[in-house]
Amino acid sequence: MDAPQFKEFAKEMVDYVANYLENIRDRRVLPTVEPGYLRPLIPDSAPQKADKWEDVLADVEKVIMPGVTHWHSPRFHAYFPTANSYPAIVADILSGAIACIGFSWIASPACTELEVVMLDWLGKMLDLPKEFLACSGGTGGGVIQGTASEATLVALLGAKARALAKFRKEFPDLSDFEIVSKLVGYTSAQSHSSVERAGLLGGIKLRSLPVDEDYKLRGETLENAIKEDLEAGLIPFYAVATLGTTSSCAFDRLDEIGPVCNEHKVWLHVDAAYAGSAFICPEFRYLLKGIERADSFNFNPHKWMLVNFDCSTMWLKDPAWLVDAFNVDPLYLKHDQQGAAPDYRHWQIPLGRRFRALKIWFVLRLYGIENLQAFIRKHISIAHYFEELVRGDDRFEITAEVIMGLVCFRLKGENVLSEQLLKRINARGVVHMVPSKINDIYFLRLAVCSRFTEQGDIDITWKEVRENADLLLAEKK
Ligand code: PLP
Repeated sequence: MDAPQFKEFAKEMVDYVANYLENIRDRRVLPTVEPGYLRPLIPDSAPQKADKWEDVLADVEKVIMPGVTHWHSPRFHAYFPTANSYPAIVADILSGAIACIGFSWIASPACTELEVVMLDWLGKMLDLPKEFLACSGGTGGGVIQGTASEATLVALLGAKARALAKFRKEFPDLSDFEIVSKLVGYTSAQSHSSVERAGLLGGIKLRSLPVDEDYKLRGETLENAIKEDLEAGLIPFYAVATLGTTSSCAFDRLDEIGPVCNEHKVWLHVDAAYAGSAFICPEFRYLLKGIERADSFNFNPHKWMLVNFDCSTMWLKDPAWLVDAFNVDPLYLKHDQQGAAPDYRHWQIPLGRRFRALKIWFVLRLYGIENLQAFIRKHISIAHYFEELVRGDDRFEITAEVIMGLVCFRLKGENVLSEQLLKRINARGVVHMVPSKINDIYFLRLAVCSRFTEQGDIDITWKEVRENADLLLAEKK
């Protein structure tokens, strides 16, 4: 493909993308295809001679779209949102054109330097303590990880390195293996499955602690667990607090957990994957109270801040624990300016990394903080609107406090009623939701996900819920 063809193809694709997104409301949210649907639609092997781009574009609608779950449909309410905006899509085109691999400063200085500054911009937007910001001149700084799962694992590895350094000094007779076998970390029973995985991947014991009646981890619970483990001769070293849990969007009590972690020299990582974006609005920052006690903090602009996947931003007060822990420095990766700017390869698991800061830059400049705040507030007010509709129908109940854009609700009575209700709703394809279960209580989760969702879409969603409930309950009589 030469440049004139590229221009034609790309312009057509931009039209296709804009039409797709602007008319997404008309598509069924969930596809109806069966596993294996795609193979018969395309040839068995790659073409010997080049196809025409016009044919490829035509096949997108024929082959791909029938099997797409439309995450940006205004009535996609499953999981949590994944971000999508025109500025971020355009930034990804530019990133694809530059196509650098920014593992070190010299590998593409703009890639590293824009990332450092964007993490400062974002950190200031959330009012993070200055210890996390590179611009404060201290040790702290931020990095873009691919996902929150990687951030949790990387933080755990940093915590492990810090604990090893400390205990090697305190107990010179113990081998590294003996120290590691005594390490114990903590999280809540409501934290994301990626936290448990980080424990498995990091080869350490991670305890899952009970939450209170509002599904929050409390300081006293953590304190008791740490004391118990100290008495058993173990070494508490890492804790993950969640701000906005996946099941019900509960907020662990950071203000209580932080002092406990600091007292026992336990690395505190804060996972705010979904809800973190809301902290750009000052009225939600009360939920961040205690953040100054944390060692690392992470949220996903790729969830709720209009920056397309992948963009998971992480701040550390002392990244040296990672940089030193992962520092493998072969000659071919060395450069003369080493130490003067971050070499982000030391802050992450892979070597390669894309120019992801571009999409933060484009989104922040082309929306401005005010429009991003308005977007978050709109989603939250839409969630409260749905909450009111549910509360107005006494066959239903709300199962968790609605704080952000997530509403957890169920039909009163046996779980099986809500299970059957969700099956019916998803089968009709107008709306898509996923369930969760806490303490054996099954419920439906309505997450406001799309930037296209309006109150009218919520009326349609509620109609779907109500009509399916009418039919279900009539059959049960
Ligand atoms: N943490 C929380 C609280 C989440 O809700 C999620 C995903 O929804 C994750 C972590 C994992 O996110 P990622 O896909 O970025 O690893």
